[in-house]
Amino acid sequence: MSEHTRFGPAGVPPMFRLLGATMIDVPRLLHEEGLDAFEYQAVRWGPKPQIKQEHAQKLGEEARKNDVRLSLHGSYYINLSGKREVVEASKRRMIACATAADWMGAYVMVFHTGFYGKFEKRYAFKQCITALKEVSTEMKSLGLKVKLGPETMGRKFQVGSLEEIMMICQEVEGTQLVVDWGHLHALHQGTFKSTDDFRKIAEKIEQTLGTETLRSMHCHFSKIEFTSQGEKRHHTLDEKRYGPDFHMLAEVIVDFGMHPTMICESPILDVDARRMQATLREVIENKQHTTQP
Ligand SMILES: [Zn+2]
Repeated sequence: MSEHTRFGPAGVPPMFRLLGATMIDVPRLLHEEGLDAFEYQAVRWGPKPQIKQEHAQKLGEEARKNDVRLSLHGSYYINLSGKREVVEASKRRMIACATAADWMGAYVMVFHTGFYGKFEKRYAFKQCITALKEVSTEMKSLGLKVKLGPETMGRKFQVGSLEEIMMICQEVEGTQLVVDWGHLHALHQGTFKSTDDFRKIAEKIEQTLGTETLRSMHCHFSKIEFTSQGEKRHHTLDEKRYGPDFHMLAEVIVDFGMHPTMICESPILDVDARRMQATLREVIENKQHTTQP
């Protein structure tokens, strides 16, 4: 079976909760909606997994049965560039998240690397690389197979520019590139104005990390509001005054033969994930029409 672009929500859609669904029902409900990815939110976790192993395994089984690819968003309480005790506590949280992700059979544990704080940027980044190498080694010794997914960040004080994330992918073993297109848009005060702006990013990634890494990237997408400091708030696809425009990204996905896992972070999670999926289908159909004689 050839790989295809997958779509799903970041967390349980509000409507599922209203219907009284439990976590175990989520993969089936997503499948019924035509979606095929789900990012479990472990964003408030401390140093221990906050899901029972049995429960996590059941979620994984349901996901496989319903052809839903699982990812896990790790704890927000991570700073790999801070003081030694902060870094050590962050590493414990990462291991807890990676352990649960492995129970579920999630393919990637997405995480935010940290903050520059009062450190010089280059120094903060070096700290972060060192800590990540330690996490990667520990995961290996624990037999954890999930990939580490450093995410491109949207605020100026956060470690995680595209260049930094690509460098982590080059230096640390067992990583998976995670591109948050809304964050890139916010960090650079509205980068994506045309399809070409998306194309440039795809080319840069392909040149640095190769074609397969580009094609199989993990993505976050939503429209985003920003200030001079970067990311402020996520918005729905309907809100015309905010960018970026998913249609432009869909063009680039098709042109580069990409098959990303696309996680929707808009306030109306699954609804917008389906809208993005429909947009990509339209773009594929239009291109097929124009290439036929
Ligand atoms: Zn994130």
